[in-house]
Amino acid sequence: GLRWSAHSLVRSSATQARQASTLLYVEHSGDGTVAPATLSAAEAAKHLPGQLEALVCGSGDAVKRAAEAAARLPGVSKVWLASDSALTHPLAETHAKLLSSLATKQKPSHVLAASTAQGRNVLPRAAALLATQPVTDVVRIVDDNTFVRPIYAGNAFATVQFKSPPAVRVVTVRPTAFPVDPTAAAAAGAPGGSGSPAPVEPVPPELLAPLSSVPAAKWESADVRSTGRPELGSAKVVVCGGRALKSAENFAMLEQLADLLGGAVGASRAAVDAGYVANDLQVGQTGKVVAPDLYIGVGISGAIQHLAGMKDSRTIVAINNDGEAPIFSVADYGLEADLFKAVPELIEAVKKV
Ligand code: FAD
Repeated sequence: GLRWSAHSLVRSSATQARQASTLLYVEHSGDGTVAPATLSAAEAAKHLPGQLEALVCGSGDAVKRAAEAAARLPGVSKVWLASDSALTHPLAETHAKLLSSLATKQKPSHVLAASTAQGRNVLPRAAALLATQPVTDVVRIVDDNTFVRPIYAGNAFATVQFKSPPAVRVVTVRPTAFPVDPTAAAAAGAPGGSGSPAPVEPVPPELLAPLSSVPAAKWESADVRSTGRPELGSAKVVVCGGRALKSAENFAMLEQLADLLGGAVGASRAAVDAGYVANDLQVGQTGKVVAPDLYIGVGISGAIQHLAGMKDSRTIVAINNDGEAPIFSVADYGLEADLFKAVPELIEAVKKV
């Protein structure tokens, strides 16, 4: 027995040629729908060779429904369902453990996730357990070993390559860089969507058993604010406010504008630091990256750290009373005006159309 296991150790070293395939880590909301960011990651997987399999972790009914939704993601040929009480909450320790042990068992050439708060929490841990270096925040996949990622707050792009490719390449992709076909997005939410779903298979039970002994952080509670607005990272319209808004109350104006346009509200770090809005609304280098069809920046100067999070937006509108504000250098439409006059006028004008 010993000799055999020594032999299998050698065979599983990096020199072993693996069948090209990708294992996608799926994020889902409690209601059984796949996160929009995961749809973008599935889109990115089209640039990688071989089959695409998806892993859905959780417990109970929610994970079953999420697995069924994942089975309808374009390109997915199989869904691994990991259902266990240790996986109920997206704790990075347990999810990374399961992901890495499935990767060890299935030997995909790539492990992929969206570069979201959750993906950025889980994937590097899984990479560490797989004894490899992750490549994060990828915006372009050149080939199976070559990836482009932003550096210096998006002011330059680095093309990175593994010199001696590891057995498995662990990669996170920036969702805004891989826009999703809307019909795929619809199908992944709705049961009975078009096309026949991929088979769903439970992960081998021996992968679940060790989870109970993972020294996990303890899940205390989730404080989820439901605004009824689209999620900031995937909204088609984003209305962002800056320090010039002066108070939390004044942000109501931007919420009204966002609601009229079916958009999300974001903010600069200065507005977040001043306590006008919650910090999950921060857009920029240390916040969320957005690339909506329409971005409206109100009373935002346009510091490079903010631009890093929004300059890929399709149409940029800026309202600022300083004609020299740097935001105007990236704006398609600039309005040099007092926001307290311009925004109410804009709201009235939008109401009329
Ligand atoms: P200000 O720079 O104060 O700009 C306010 C603007 O409002 C000015 O241009 C002014 O002309 C205009 N204005 C004032 N009154 C009115 C009015 N009545 N009507 C119209 N316009 C008006 N920032 C981010 O946003 N996101 C990040 O992720 C981020 N990460 C950072 C990371 C690091 C390491 C560092 C050092 C900084 C980071 N910052 C980030 C901060 C960034 O450098 C800026 O300080 C911040 O973006 C400024 O926010 P602001 O534009 O709201 O405020």
